[in-house]
Amino acid sequence: MNAIAVVTSGGDAPGMNAALRAVVRACSYHKIRCKGVRLGYQGLITNDIVELGPRSVSNIINRGGTILKTARSSDFKTKEGRQKAFENIQKNNIDGLVVIGGDGSFTGAMTLEKEFGIKTIGVPGTIDNDIFGTDSTIGYDTALNTAMDAIDKIRDTATSHNRLFFIEVMGRDAGFIALNSGIASGAQDILIPEKKDDIETLFSSIERGEKAGKLSNIIVVAEGEELGGVYDLAKFTKMKYPKFDVRVTVLGHIQRGGDPTCADRVLGSRLGIAAVEGLLNGKSAVMAGIRSNKVVYTSFEDAIQKQNVINKELIRIVEILAR
Ligand code: ADP
Repeated sequence: MNAIAVVTSGGDAPGMNAALRAVVRACSYHKIRCKGVRLGYQGLITNDIVELGPRSVSNIINRGGTILKTARSSDFKTKEGRQKAFENIQKNNIDGLVVIGGDGSFTGAMTLEKEFGIKTIGVPGTIDNDIFGTDSTIGYDTALNTAMDAIDKIRDTATSHNRLFFIEVMGRDAGFIALNSGIASGAQDILIPEKKDDIETLFSSIERGEKAGKLSNIIVVAEGEELGGVYDLAKFTKMKYPKFDVRVTVLGHIQRGGDPTCADRVLGSRLGIAAVEGLLNGKSAVMAGIRSNKVVYTSFEDAIQKQNVINKELIRIVEILAR
């Protein structure tokens, strides 16, 4: 291989810069050229491609977001768009592509590989941790800590005013952030898409808390929870318990930003190198991940289609802890 290109695609996640830096420096170490594609797959289509050397990625390991920027490219979902991308890949003498992103980005990479034979390798970058083939995705640990810090702050005001808070955290399809940040911040209950909740179970949990002498309460709710969302939950709870002072906070995009944690910087660094070395060893259409502290490669098909399952033990302990 003479040149590898790297792209950050889909939703941004803290630690993507650490992964990008590792890709660039692994290329330098192995004496191959590295090119950065700006604005996700759109940059492949518009030929927005820059040469990257070890100094291009100085002082970014500690920064959230992605210096290459990212975008959602609808053009890349079309055959014509991918044809243009392929032509630019050829024009720039690119022999392999590292895609740092989520399962949408991997679907795009897999399609490019199938249609044009481009060697592609994925690095899981998403705060939701919903990708099969790695114990943790880049950005997840940072998002967890951001959510936990925010919930801690809300708890201060909840306690001072005897309030019941419904706090929505990110996770449209997966409850990893809700479950773990909820346990870490002492939530009374946690509602996630993987656990089929009903409103009566929630009410009995709230009542249990009240009987145990709790004057304030925190309920953490994943975006994708199926009881109707935080605002409806708050409304129904207020109707049932008019005496409660019920409030809602949606944490939103603060969970996507901020300086990556140590764990995310190390994860991004390891996976960036694993991606380059995977390509050099002839791997393609796979995602680099870490399982039980070892680098493993999972086919794009499995990474996209299989589920990263919630640890049921964590669901069980929520009730034990909420006394
Ligand atoms: P994520 O990678 O975080 O899951 P998206 O689902 O938005 O984010 O996907 C990122 C990009 O990957 C899209 O904007 C598009 O360019 C590309 N992509 C997603 N799905 C496909 C697909 N089915 N075919 C080709 N490209 C796709």
